[in-house]
Amino acid sequence: MQRGACLCGEVAFVVEAEVQDPIACHCRECRRQSGHFFSAVAAPKAAVRMTKEVGLAWYRASDKAARGFCRTCGSSLFWRADEGPTVMVAMGALEAPTGLRLSGHYWVEEKGSYYDISDGLPQHGRGGA
Ligand SMILES: [Zn+2]
Ligand SMILES: [Zn+2]
Repeated sequence: MQRGACLCGEVAFVVEAEVQDPIACHCRECRRQSGHFFSAVAAPKAAVRMTKEVGLAWYRASDKAARGFCRTCGSSLFWRADEGPTVMVAMGALEAPTGLRLSGHYWVEEKGSYYDISDGLPQHGRGGA
């Protein structure tokens, strides 16, 4: 199980499932919303239980997906496709230690020009979160 929260605490949640290793998405949309690239882990939608959601808001980022954030402090928290069983949970929201390690990079062709990906992890093209 993982516990998570936004910066101000007006959104808090638990992930009541074992999750696999997280990914980093370098797409333009994730970079815009998160401020850098977006590291997140897939969790079953039904396993993410909100314990405080007074601050939770959703931005409809496309006709297929929405991005969850805290309306008070602005923390990036979730990426959720309308279809499919999982929601991506921001690694930055999770309480340490998570016991998880980044497993790879996605949408690398849209990464920022101001950094390199040099950790040796697999790099994938379009189609990530
Ligand atoms: Zn907040
Ligand atoms: Zn992305």
